[in-house]
Amino acid sequence: MHRTYMKDELVVFWDSEKCYHARRCVGSSAKIFDPKRRPWIDLSQADMPEIWECVSKCPSGALTCAYTHGIDVRFEEDACRSAAYDGEKQVGVCLYREGPDGWSIVSTRVDPAYGGQGIAKRLVFSVTEAAERRKQAVVPVCSYAVKLLRPADQ
Ligand code: SF4
Repeated sequence: MHRTYMKDELVVFWDSEKCYHARRCVGSSAKIFDPKRRPWIDLSQADMPEIWECVSKCPSGALTCAYTHGIDVRFEEDACRSAAYDGEKQVGVCLYREGPDGWSIVSTRVDPAYGGQGIAKRLVFSVTEAAERRKQAVVPVCSYAVKLLRPADQ
């Protein structure tokens, strides 16, 4: 399962396949992370520095975070993609194809001028979240998605 959570300029990513339940997140802030709650992550409970510090303690890479830098990421189902925008300018895109095996992520691209801001990750997570909510399997094909979505021990 892949989920993104947002608070102001902060995006928190959670990849359940990398989570091995060390529960350091819960130990660092039970008000943000509560496994009994749905959704179990509630960013409204803390300010951005506290959230960042808690996320950085995750030993598995299941929890990560990035700043938005004012970039908006939208899931655009009619075009089989998620896309990132700086204002009205498109600065990144993640394309998928629907097939009998699920949604194949075939391309993830970000304008090099916007590199290093976590945009590609936001794009892929946008597609994977949408697929999971529609009970579709995700098949990573492009090299970025393969690398991002592989389990932690590979
Ligand atoms: S600290 Fe990371 S690995 Fe441990 S339970 Fe939290 S998300 Fe999972």
